[in-house]
Amino acid sequence: MIKIISARVTFDGIEVTGTESKDVFKLEKNEDIHSYKDIEYKLNVSLVNDSILVKGTAKTVFKARCGKCLNLFNLKVCCKDICHLYESNNNNKIDLTEDIREDILISLPHKIICSDSCKGICFTCGKNLNLEKCACSTEKESFSEWDKLNNLDL
Ligand SMILES: [Zn+2]
Ligand SMILES: [Zn+2]
Repeated sequence: MIKIISARVTFDGIEVTGTESKDVFKLEKNEDIHSYKDIEYKLNVSLVNDSILVKGTAKTVFKARCGKCLNLFNLKVCCKDICHLYESNNNNKIDLTEDIREDILISLPHKIICSDSCKGICFTCGKNLNLEKCACSTEKESFSEWDKLNNLDL
């Protein structure tokens, strides 16, 4: 649990760092992405009037499946703009786990690919084109597809 003891927070702010188990993501059943390394967080927690302001960063690593080549790779995620405001509740604990878990999940890229230069897999023979070249020429394939369309009497 990533927690803060309200009574310890000052107006100047305190630094709260640590790690949290990767199990909080509950992604065990997901085949395309699952948690791989624990969350590392570094937060600055300060009092603002009667509230507690939490700012900072959190990072972790997932094992994710590339949307192009379908390989599993290490997807590093760093959330740099954590910012939450909590009501101060005299000497009680504030649990940040759920909010930080969400912050990290929201930072996941929309398109998960192993690298910008990933060549993907060949649609004809299914080979991973990052690892080997295949004999199929995808360009020719697509041209002949167009030719077929051109030859249709519409
Ligand atoms: Zn890839
Ligand atoms: Zn091929």
